[in-house]
Amino acid sequence: MKPLPIRVRLTLWYFTMFATAAVMLCAASLWMLMRSVDQSEYQELLERAEDVQLLLSHADPALDLRQLSDDLSAIYALKDDGKYLQVRDERGNWLFRSKRMVAENPDLPAPALLHKAGQIANFHQGTRYVRVLAYPITVRGMQYSVQTGIALNKSMVLVENFRNSLLLLAPIAILLAAVGGHVMGRKALRPVAELAREARRINDRNLDIRLPASRAKDEISDLSRTLNQMLERIDKAFASVRTFTGNASHELRTPISLLRTEIEVALYRPRSSEEYRNILGRLHAETVRMTSLVESLLSLARADGGAEMITLAPICVNALFRQVSEVCAPAMNKAMLDFRVEIPDENLIVLGENQGISRLLSILLENAGKYTPPGGVVRLCAAIEGEQIVLSVEDTGIGIASEHMERIFERFYRASSQDESIPAGSGLGLSLAKWIAERHGARLSVQSTVGKGSRFSFSLESAAVGHSAFDAVDPLNAKSKENTRNHSSLSV
Ligand code: ADP
Repeated sequence: MKPLPIRVRLTLWYFTMFATAAVMLCAASLWMLMRSVDQSEYQELLERAEDVQLLLSHADPALDLRQLSDDLSAIYALKDDGKYLQVRDERGNWLFRSKRMVAENPDLPAPALLHKAGQIANFHQGTRYVRVLAYPITVRGMQYSVQTGIALNKSMVLVENFRNSLLLLAPIAILLAAVGGHVMGRKALRPVAELAREARRINDRNLDIRLPASRAKDEISDLSRTLNQMLERIDKAFASVRTFTGNASHELRTPISLLRTEIEVALYRPRSSEEYRNILGRLHAETVRMTSLVESLLSLARADGGAEMITLAPICVNALFRQVSEVCAPAMNKAMLDFRVEIPDENLIVLGENQGISRLLSILLENAGKYTPPGGVVRLCAAIEGEQIVLSVEDTGIGIASEHMERIFERFYRASSQDESIPAGSGLGLSLAKWIAERHGARLSVQSTVGKGSRFSFSLESAAVGHSAFDAVDPLNAKSKENTRNHSSLSV
């Protein structure tokens, strides 16, 4: 069954609550009225019985039973109290019996059998509904049973009228409860409806709009604030995607324009094969740069999409360093740098994704090569720190000024350099490197001094330290061992 809308459910809840409260209030007030009527009638009957006791105690003790009976008759014949009254002594002799009591003949037990609070009984007599109280009294050592009665018609009319009024009011109260429930349901959901109306206005072009949030600390304002925080994040993400697309287009436009101009100039007039060879060489270098740029852009786009899965596996640091340094060595040689690989004597195994980590190290080495003047030193190092293995790339290059330090990991950010000899980069390398490190649960950190050099490092979890583990994962073990020395420096 389809669940009822919240508004209908709230209305039903409010209605049930109001209606139950109204019915309970009516029932309670009726019960309280009946109880107070009963109590006041009991009190009245008790007073009448005590009046009889007073009369008997003031009567002359010398009077015999008949004279006493005559006295009581004389007094009660005209009194309202005497309409329902009968008195008898402990021997069963009647002192007084009104006509109505004789006609009804209600049971009047001997005084010894009566409870000291009296005994109540009701009966109908003609149109009257009568309540009687049989009460034991003691006068000068002699016990009597007194039974006094009262017609309940007046009180019954009172209770009846009250009950009728309640029966009349109850449907009105229930109707009001239904209306109240509906109004309360609407009122309670009005802020939610307002939020929904405001939220419907928001689209990808006006993500700066925020939902109204009152200062009250309630659920609605909490929801509003949470949605605003979510909008803030979406807005930022959208802005970064826009900037990324803008920057990427800009980055790609420059080399493409360059290629176009180069080709147009080449085609302007016929050239020798030597000239064509030179032009093609330049075009090739430019396309290589573009390919690397497009690869970085693709990786970052995949990173944003969260599409790339990472599978951690044990990696032999020796083999990894050899693989990376083989690729980087020619560029280092060309730049006239002293490239060293430093690893401890033990065979280190880290947990990571081989392709990702070698990419990260390549980016750092490429930067070190780019930003270190000829004659400088570039080091690729590994060190054990507790359960972790720290991999780092150090150089004796130009260093990074403190004002750029925070921003170098941002996409497309480049610390401006006056040095014309430093090749222009895309500003994507470090953001990609940082992302790869984060995927491994590591933090890529940098220490740098302007004019002295920089050190980029990150820690990976050690899978095992020792020869046996190393043997297990590296098929080129024997060859690797030859190259491994205690903090040896391999100049490539
Ligand atoms: P780029 O393609 O410009 O090198 P990166 O994201 O790799 O882009 O680096 C961002 C900026 O950080 C560089 O422009 C450079 O100013 C600075 N940088 C990175 N590595 C080094 C380094 N080893 N020495 C000095 N500066 C560096």
